[in-house]
Amino acid sequence: MKKIAVLGITGSIGASTVEVVRAHPDKFQIVLASAHTNQKKLFKLAQEFHIDHLVITSLEANPDSHLLDDLRLYFGEKELLQLITELDIDIVLNAITGAAGLLSSLTTIRAQKDLALANKESLVLAGHLIKKEMQKSRSRLLPVDSEHSAIFQCLASHRNSEIKKVILTASGGPFRTLPLAEFSKITVAQTLAHPTWSMGKKVTIDSATMMNKALEVIEAHWLFDLPYERIEAVLHQHSIIHSFLQFADGSILAQLSKPTMKLPILYALTHPQHIEADIVHTDILSLPPLEFAPLEKDRFPLFFLARKCGETGGLLPTIMNAVNEAAISLFLAEKIHYTDIYRLIAAALEKENNIENPDLETIITTNTEIHQKYLQDYKEYLN
Ligand code: MG
Repeated sequence: MKKIAVLGITGSIGASTVEVVRAHPDKFQIVLASAHTNQKKLFKLAQEFHIDHLVITSLEANPDSHLLDDLRLYFGEKELLQLITELDIDIVLNAITGAAGLLSSLTTIRAQKDLALANKESLVLAGHLIKKEMQKSRSRLLPVDSEHSAIFQCLASHRNSEIKKVILTASGGPFRTLPLAEFSKITVAQTLAHPTWSMGKKVTIDSATMMNKALEVIEAHWLFDLPYERIEAVLHQHSIIHSFLQFADGSILAQLSKPTMKLPILYALTHPQHIEADIVHTDILSLPPLEFAPLEKDRFPLFFLARKCGETGGLLPTIMNAVNEAAISLFLAEKIHYTDIYRLIAAALEKENNIENPDLETIITTNTEIHQKYLQDYKEYLN
């Protein structure tokens, strides 16, 4: 029985993880679960799966409220990090949304526990620090993002040095064919209607702007130790091929399935084995034609801008990510237009200064400050 912690259990990746665990009660036991705000759903899951330790990260610790019926309740990030360190856990699945997931990733690695990583921001903000901690740790870093899981599965026991390049696939989101003249009128509802993947709001908007694919390029750079010129992305509208890996000899492998997060989650939990499971059925004969197209610069300018930030490195990815998270909140609140997401990030990158090789404190402080600054003063930067 593998003991797992699921951070962000009430979100979209959390829901898929719950389905995987429900289908394999003999293999996995959830011993720790966290939610940011959705207490009701957290308690319901705790009852179903008999989860002993629960954390609500949006609330601060309150000595009187640690016990609710027979549940052990904890509050805030500090208590979560302490539980990750102290509890008997084999693998931590980090599905926290955004920069808030960084400390949980670092703590898991420092505690010598395996990290199934669905929080791409951990690597985007602090890939250099995660890598350094990994060198000192027995932890394994297991990708949960479907593209990286595909590459990881294709790579199997081969060495990174055998990779010529990786090609990440991108569905193209809801605006793959929308005339460019209509981009200024894009609504929140249109943006949240993703054609192939059902995901949380933040990643759905990132998929429309293609920021998500740029974050994944940065993630691939750190996960597979590849220089940026060996990481590409192509449009593949049906999301059947989850990524390609080309070996040094020119041979290309790909991993296919219907679009679902359940397979990448299962593989992260069972690596290096593919266990018997009945959670996804992909019928080859009913698949749509496999089509590919290049990413257009005028349609997805944020992909190219954000990828460049990754290449520059230092504190720039943190700044970019913080402004992106602010821009998404502003767009969801209908305070800015869809096209302003790019404009706000581009303006911030012009204005803010980079720092090379930032330490953890600088990353965390900058993330908070930049996020607040652009959330409040966005009008000033959009003129
Ligand atoms: Mg992905």
